[in-house]
Amino acid sequence: MSQIAQNLKNVQEKIAQTLRQCGRDGEHITLVAVTKTHPVELIDEALRLGITHIAENKVQEAERKIPLLSAPYEAFHFIGRLQTNKINKLLSLNPALVQSVGSLYLAQELNRSLGRKNLTQDILVQINTTAEETKSGVDLDNAEDMIWQIASLSSLRIRGLMTMGVMSLDPEKTRPFFRQLFALKEKLESQNIPGVSWEHLSMGMSGDFEVALQEGANMLRLGSVIFGQRNYG
Ligand SMILES: *Cc1c(COP(=O)(O)O)cnc(C)c1O
Repeated sequence: MSQIAQNLKNVQEKIAQTLRQCGRDGEHITLVAVTKTHPVELIDEALRLGITHIAENKVQEAERKIPLLSAPYEAFHFIGRLQTNKINKLLSLNPALVQSVGSLYLAQELNRSLGRKNLTQDILVQINTTAEETKSGVDLDNAEDMIWQIASLSSLRIRGLMTMGVMSLDPEKTRPFFRQLFALKEKLESQNIPGVSWEHLSMGMSGDFEVALQEGANMLRLGSVIFGQRNYG
């Protein structure tokens, strides 16, 4: 078995086991393979092994790699900081989900570009649960207001929330933030905001996906546990 095949098998077993342990047996979890820095050949291999969702965090890198993929995929997700001058390039890659909409300004610019093309776009609102300055996303305190404003933009369809945990070897440090995101989702759900659904709760990366599942995630963004360490050189 190849390294990626082995990694995928391990991850899928861990996901199933964690779901069983927290009483979510058999629930559907969307596994998004984060392919940033990894070559097209490895991505193709993962796709042939059953991966259907892939994600990149840089428009230029996605633009270069996606046309070279030979295996089909179901959905391309964008998960990185989106500069407004790259919006049109991103849209030309047909992202199924833009997970990293974390400011009203970006939402408005995205909405404007989509409107011109007569397109709509599924998005997640990125919440900076940990309130770290280096991270994108709206703070928990301002999230509700911003979400109501984004919900009124006609070309954007909010489909859930995304967050990143704290950089720590101890995933327990992130648990409270995942819990807060889940609580925010519950609160928003009860507000019945027109045109919005809360189907995706995207939290959990290689170091903290088990905790994320325990706290209610249904979308995981996994890079290194599938593809190995990233080499930024
Ligand atoms: C890189 C990245 C991931 C995946 O990180 P791993 O720790 O390798 O699983 C997930 N989400 C975002 C937004 C990322 O940039």
